Amino acid sequence: MTRFEDLSLEQQELIRKHLDLVIEANKTTNLTRIDSVDDGMLLHVEDSLVGLEELQSSPEGLYADLGTGAGYPGIPLAIASGRETVLVDARQKKMVILDSIIKELGLEENVSTYAGRAELLARSRTGEFSVITARALSKLAVLMELASPLLEYDGHLVCYKAQLQDEEIDHALKVQKLTGMKLVSDRKLLLSDGETHRRIVTFEKASKPKVKLPRQEGMAQKNPLY
Ligand code: SAH
Repeated sequence: MTRFEDLSLEQQELIRKHLDLVIEANKTTNLTRIDSVDDGMLLHVEDSLVGLEELQSSPEGLYADLGTGAGYPGIPLAIASGRETVLVDARQKKMVILDSIIKELGLEENVSTYAGRAELLARSRTGEFSVITARALSKLAVLMELASPLLEYDGHLVCYKAQLQDEEIDHALKVQKLTGMKLVSDRKLLLSDGETHRRIVTFEKASKPKVKLPRQEGMAQKNPLY
C-alpha cells in the first residue's frame, strides 16, 4: 500500500499545500467539516491515497472523481498517479474554489473541473473514462448507475466506503445487470490511527446496461434502481 511518505517530496508538498488551501478556503466557504491539518492528513490525505492501489490497477486513461467536494480523493490521487483527471461536482461554488486551487498548485495541465451533475457529464462524455472514484457521494447502487455511462468497457468504479450494511451490498449486487457493472474487488482496511475502518469496493463496466443510462438528472439518487 502506498502511503503519503512513499510519495516523492514534490508530490507530498503539493498534497499538503492542497490541504492547507482547503482549510483556508473553508474558513469562508463550507467545503468540508474537517478544519485541522492533523485531521485532514488522516481523513482526507491518507484516506484518499488508500484507493491508489485500485486506481493503478484500472485500465490506463482518463480518471474522474464524482462528487469531489474539496477535491477528495481526486486531487491526491491525481498528484500521486499523474493521470489526466476531471473533478466533478454539482455545486458550482465548490468548483470555482477548486479551479483556483488547481491553478495555485500548477496542476491545470492535468486536472480540470466539471461543475454539474455526473448524469449531465455522461451525456457529453459517454464512455470516455477508464476509472472513476467516489467518496461520501451515495450508496453503491447509485454510484454504479452514475458511473456506468461515463465508463469505457473494462473501466473501473472505485467506491470509498466507511461502514457498509449488508443491505447496501445486496442492492449493489442486484443492480449489476441493470447498470452493466460487475463487482471485482472488496477490500477492508484500517487507517493508521488504528480505529478508522474503510472499505474499498470496485466494480467494472462489464456489459451494456439493461436500463437506458443516464436517466433524467436526479433520478439515480431520488428513485434508485433496486
Ligand atoms: N468526495 C468529497 C465530498 C463528499 S460530499 C469528500 O469525500 O470529502 C458529496 C458531494 O457530492 C457534494 O459536494 C455534492 O455537491 C456532490 N454531488 C452529489 N450528487 C452529485 C451528482 N449527481 N453529480 C455530481 N456531484 C454530486
